[in-house]
Amino acid sequence: MGNPVRLAVIGHPVAHSRSPAMHNAACAALGAPFRMEAIEVEPSGLPEFIRRARVEFAGVSITSPHKEAVIPLLDAVNPEARSIGAVNCLFHMGGLLTGANTDASGFIQACEREGGVRLDGARALVIGAGGAARAVVHGLARRGAARVWIANRSPDRARELVAAAGGNHAALWNEAEDAIEPLDLLVNATTASRQGINPAPPGLFRHVSPRALAMDLTYGRPSPFLGACAAGGLGVMDGLPMLLYQAAEAFSFWTGRAAPLEVMRRALEE
Ligand code: NDP
Repeated sequence: MGNPVRLAVIGHPVAHSRSPAMHNAACAALGAPFRMEAIEVEPSGLPEFIRRARVEFAGVSITSPHKEAVIPLLDAVNPEARSIGAVNCLFHMGGLLTGANTDASGFIQACEREGGVRLDGARALVIGAGGAARAVVHGLARRGAARVWIANRSPDRARELVAAAGGNHAALWNEAEDAIEPLDLLVNATTASRQGINPAPPGLFRHVSPRALAMDLTYGRPSPFLGACAAGGLGVMDGLPMLLYQAAEAFSFWTGRAAPLEVMRRALEE
């Protein structure tokens, strides 16, 4: 057998990434001739890495802090990634290095397949206004959520996200608090759990349906947000299912094959 086709995950830092374990286990299980490596890329090195990616890598997974900065360096960006304003997956299509975003569909599938939430008609709170929050708000709109309230530490970024979501779909949490209807879904899309902080707005539990699901996109560490939600009787889910489903979609872009989900899940959990 010849050398495997190369895949990469890039970030800064990237050593903690579970993507190589997941994708390499999937390739081994299917006998697919690909191998993923984690490559540390500092922001200043991103243009040089993208030049290399054109010839050296069949696919690249992009993590923080490159998801937005990579966009102007690509030949094409698919409409969903363009509208979210972030790319987390690169592949070659018709000779063009193309960017996609699989976070939104990873979020949708995690909620629907593992969280038991029906997003169509749902009312949701999204905490955060960074790249992950934008993908979540996009995913909620794509699935027909009735209304999304957005809360963020920096109000200006929350306002920008409400404006980007457009129409009557989204509103600012602290400006619309009196009008909030019982929430079916709470999403912590901040990095606050990494700092041991619960970013929930005060008075949140007054607005929550007893059957609501609370989700924290961060994984691999305790979440004070999920701890408080579980103590309040809500169902909770960390970021691992979303990570799994976003990776599964990327795997299909690169290999043209359906991802072996349970193999990837085991590699992720080990
Ligand atoms: P960004 O850096 O783009 O955004 C960070 C967000 O967190 C901002 O809204 C920021 O607020 C907020 N924040 C940071 N510190 C605090 C704090 N102490 N209190 C309240 N809010 C805070 O990050 P991303 O959007 O890229 O990622 C967010 C999280 O989602 C990360 O932990 C990432 O690992 C996770 N993620 C998980 C995925 C998965 O598949 N499970 C996929 C993508 C991301 P402000 O605007 O005020 O700075």
